[in-house]
This record gives sequence, structure tokens and C-alpha cells, in this order.
Amino acid sequence: MQKLCGWVGKILKIDLSHHQIESLDTMAYAEKFLGGLGIGHKLYWDHAAWGADAFDERQPLIFMTGPLAATPAPSAPRLSICGKSPCIYPETFVSASLGGFFAAELKKAGFDGIMVLGRSDGAVTIHIEDGNVEIREAAQLWGLGNLKTHEVLKNELGKNVRILSIGPGGENRTRYGIIFTDVAGAASMGFGSVMGSKNLKAITVKGSGSVAIADPVRIKEIRKRFSEMTGAGYYNLFGNPILLPGMQVIKKAHCHGCPQGCWRTVQQGPSGAQDIRKCQTNLFYTLWDRKLHGAITEASFSAATLANDYGLCVMDLVQLMLWLDRCFAAGLLSEKDIGLPMAQMGSPEFFEALLRTICSRKGFGSVLAEGAIRASENVGGEAREIIRNMFTQTGRAVAYGPKVFVLSALIYALEPRPFITELHEVCEPLTKWGRWYTKTDEKSYMSTDVIRGIGAAFWGGEKSVDFSTYEGKARASSLIQNRQYIKESLVLCDFAWPVYDDASTKQHVGDPGMEGKLLSAVTGWDIDEAGLNGFAERIIALNRAILLREGRRGRQDDILPEFFFIERDEFIADVFGMHNPQLLLPGAGDDVISRRGKAVDREQFEKLLDDYYGLRGWDGKTGYLKKETLVSLGLTECIEPLGDKAI
Ligand code: SF4
Repeated sequence: MQKLCGWVGKILKIDLSHHQIESLDTMAYAEKFLGGLGIGHKLYWDHAAWGADAFDERQPLIFMTGPLAATPAPSAPRLSICGKSPCIYPETFVSASLGGFFAAELKKAGFDGIMVLGRSDGAVTIHIEDGNVEIREAAQLWGLGNLKTHEVLKNELGKNVRILSIGPGGENRTRYGIIFTDVAGAASMGFGSVMGSKNLKAITVKGSGSVAIADPVRIKEIRKRFSEMTGAGYYNLFGNPILLPGMQVIKKAHCHGCPQGCWRTVQQGPSGAQDIRKCQTNLFYTLWDRKLHGAITEASFSAATLANDYGLCVMDLVQLMLWLDRCFAAGLLSEKDIGLPMAQMGSPEFFEALLRTICSRKGFGSVLAEGAIRASENVGGEAREIIRNMFTQTGRAVAYGPKVFVLSALIYALEPRPFITELHEVCEPLTKWGRWYTKTDEKSYMSTDVIRGIGAAFWGGEKSVDFSTYEGKARASSLIQNRQYIKESLVLCDFAWPVYDDASTKQHVGDPGMEGKLLSAVTGWDIDEAGLNGFAERIIALNRAILLREGRRGRQDDILPEFFFIERDEFIADVFGMHNPQLLLPGAGDDVISRRGKAVDREQFEKLLDDYYGLRGWDGKTGYLKKETLVSLGLTECIEPLGDKAI
């Protein structure tokens, strides 16, 4: 039998209702869907309880690693979590991505993934150790915060156990409970609450095995090349954490197999307390902390630790607090309605009281536990209108949006999932270009010539980075989406991949073929960028099929929120806007244009959609899937269930 390289060959299927454990053959899925996000899609298609809600016990919750996890591939630690999300509005299939060590440990324990179905009668954990799997009673853990849960499990199972757990936010089925793991990793989309709905408090794993790789020498070379390309010490968007006043970095907190690390660092707050901080966790409470105290204090630092412990997503909490604050200021909700001392918003005490209220689901807590968009519907009237001007139609926050980057318009319109990873693909090289142009980074080599080279190599042509036109943007968006789906299927980290630019050469354009080279070296497959794009086309079509089957209305729902079409001068507070407030971008020839105050052009947006459907082989009029496309991608199983949405 041919040696299996990259994958370990088995995906666990665990039915908690009947305490049944079996395994599926990974390669029956990998040959068409690669791993991670791709296999997650196929497992969902095969096992979803269509029409049932996210907390229905029949719904699968899928945890997938990919072929690069637990290998020497640089920055490949992610766990792709797929299922129906209670958080997205309306509920639908999405995915979350989790860093840390769990994915690598799971493979070392002999499994490429886990699919959990059903609901246990009482609280349980799943323990996996070197091929053995047990469902264990866990009544003693129910009600504990994530930090205590990890402490208890580590005391019981040893310091080297890797854990996915939920806190009270997940146990009590708030819509935005997180799954918490090592190095303070947190998976959003309410998947912690889906675990809670299954009475699954934690999954623990210990593995002492290893993953076979086809060409260790080649991987070593690629790893060396990766370090040369990325390691010149110039500005790296994700390399240097934005530190709050009074806080300091103690050390980096790398995920498994990550050579360079990122914002994920152990930080110390003003009181000496230490915890791991990443991007948003550092910033999310600062607005209210500063408003109350006149400066950023320990409250901002402690808020992230509290949110992780209670097991609630900081992104969703920010949205909720922004909405609550505006409703209170407009007199739409009083302190009595809310049941919290709103004048104290910004203090640690207020924040903890808010978390307790949400997790208990008592009083107004039952409204807040539904998240901003559903809470606004519950309150109704003007409180609902406030939301319309803040978030996307599925309730997602806005950053790196299409008013600045035309490239982002399709990314916002086509998917209900949080598209921040795809948006990073757009904003990262352009933020570096902005810092080169505005001379705020003297070391930057990201000149207009380099950015054009990147456009040509990665995004389908130089026109993709001419921001005076919509030309070339549909192709660029589809390629960005392809690359993102592949990254999440291989389980590469968004902060480290792709390698757009190369610090070690004069030309400075990175290598769009790196991912294919890595996969070939690990698995022994012979695959290049075009081959990976073929996988992406199939996975993205399956994603579309799932969304259509769950009720998406094709082109009718491929829309942007109205505020993207309105011109107004506004400060864009994301990392790009922070460094480049006039929102300067490359135009045609030597021109530089400003996108400040600009909006998306409606006609051009519709044209982008036409072009995109054409590139994907989807029906232009309806945005439905064409049968011939499904057949050519090997997805004939989608045709019959889609009914008239496959044409
Ligand atoms: S870049 Fe950061 S988030 Fe990504 S793998 Fe490395 S440490 Fe983890």
C-alpha cells in the first residue's frame, strides 16, 4: 500500500446522542476537497440537518486540520471549524479558524478531523489520546469559566494536553459563544454555543505520533526560503503589535510551527497582570475605557481576559456595546430597561456585569445574548435603524471596505461569513504601499512598481491595483477568494500567508506558487498554483450550493449595505486608514488617487457581479449554479437537492 503523507487517514465521527464513535476515511474526501475548510464543506453537505436551526442536535459541528498541520510547513497551525452558525443573520453555514496547537496534536493523536453530531444527556468532554477516544462525564466542569476549565483539565491530564473548551457564554447558548484554546486562541461564529447545545464542555487531545512527509529536504529548503522572504525587519502589518499605553510585550506567543510569530504576544498590563493578546482583543474596550477614565487603563487589558473566561466573542461584544451605547444616548433604552449602570460603561465592573447578564440570559440579558442585530429587532423602531448604518446585512463589522478598496466589494457581497481573512489579503500589501508612499516606513520597499508586480503575479494583472478603475477587480477578487479557501484548506495562517513580497530580492515580488510547492513536498502530489485554483473552484461552488440550499436567494442576496453607496467624508479607523488618512492608492500610470469620501458606484458594482459570475461559471441573471459547472467540478450530488437553483 502506498504510504500516506500529509494526512493521517482518519476523521472521527462522534454521535453524542448515542455515544457512538466511528471513523471515516480521510482520503475519500481529500482527493477532491484537500483538507480543513474544503473537507469541512463536504462533511457538512453530507450530514447537515437541512432546515433545522443551528442548535438542533442533529447539526454537525466539524473540526478539520489539513495536510500541512503537524508538519514542518511554516505557519500551518490552524483548525478549521465548520457548521451552521447561530451568530450570522440569518443562521447559515460558515466557518471559523483557530490557531494554537490543537490541530497539530490531533494529527499526532492519529486523526485529521472530528465531526460531532447529536447531544449528550449530561455535560461531557471528549478525550482523544493516541488513537483512543472516550466520551467522559463532565458535570464538575459545567459552569466553570474557560481559564478554570483549562486549569482543571491540565491538572488531570497533564500540562501537554491540548484543549478546546467553552465558558458560560457557550453553555447557555448565547449566539456568540467562543471555543477557547491554547495561546488564547478563540473561534467565533457562536460555535462555542453549538458545543454548548450538544452539552460538550471540552475536547482534549494528546498525541505522540508523527505525520509522514514525502520530501523532508525540500520542505527544509522551502522553510529557509520562506524565512529569507519574510524576515528583513521592515514594517510587517501583523508583526508588531499595536500596544496600548502602559502595556508592554513580555514575549511572543507562537502557534505550533510558526517561525516568525505575530501580534500574538504575552503582554503585561499596568497592574502587572499578564495575558496573551492578539489583534482585536487588545483594542475592543478602549473606546469606553478612555471615555470613562480620560485615558486607557487596566480596564482595557482586563476586559479581554474576562471575555475569554466567560467565553464570549470580543468582535460581537464590540458591536453589541456600540449599539447599546447609541440606543442609550438616543434615549431609546434606559438604565432600567437595560439593567446595567450605563454611566459606568468603561469600568471593569461594568464589563463583568454585562458578561454576567448576557451569560445568565436573565432580564435584558436574554435580549443581549442574541447579539446586536437580533437585539435591535427585539427592541425595534429606531434601535433597528441604528444597526442598518453600522454593519453588513449579516451582522458583520466593516473594515477594509469597498469604499476604499474596490477589490473588497465582491468579498463583502458574496459571503455571509466574516471575510476578514480575505480582506487582510487586500489590505496587507496596500498598507505597506501606503506606508512607502507616505514615507511613514523608511525601510519599506513596497513601491508602486512592486505593488504592480504583485497585482500581475497574484491578482490576475496590473489593472487589479489601478484604483481609478473597476477593471480587473472581479478577476482579482475571485483569485483572492481562491487563495483564501486554499489557505484554510491547507490550514496555513492568514497572518503569514501568502508571501506577497520578497525581502531578499531586488524585484521584491513574492512567490504565488509557494503553497503548491509546500503541498507537493509534504504529500508527494505534483501540484502547482493552477491545480490549487482548481480545488478552490470546487470548494467555492460547494459553498455556494450550501448557501443556496439554506435559503440564499442568489443574486438578490449578493448585495452591499446601502451605506457603501453613499459618498461622505469619513475617517476610516482600520489599520490602512490609521497610517494613510487620505486613503491614497495607486491609480493609472504614475497617478496616485485618494478614496477619501468616495463610495461604491452602483452600476459598476453590478458589472463586477456579472464578471464574477461569468468567471465562476454561475448564472449571471440569478446568481444560481449552472448544472454544467457542477458537473465539470465533480459536484453532481448537488444538482438534485438544489432544485431550480441549479440551472
Ligand atoms: S502568525 Fe501569529 S497567528 Fe499565525 S501562526 Fe504565527 S503566531 Fe499563530
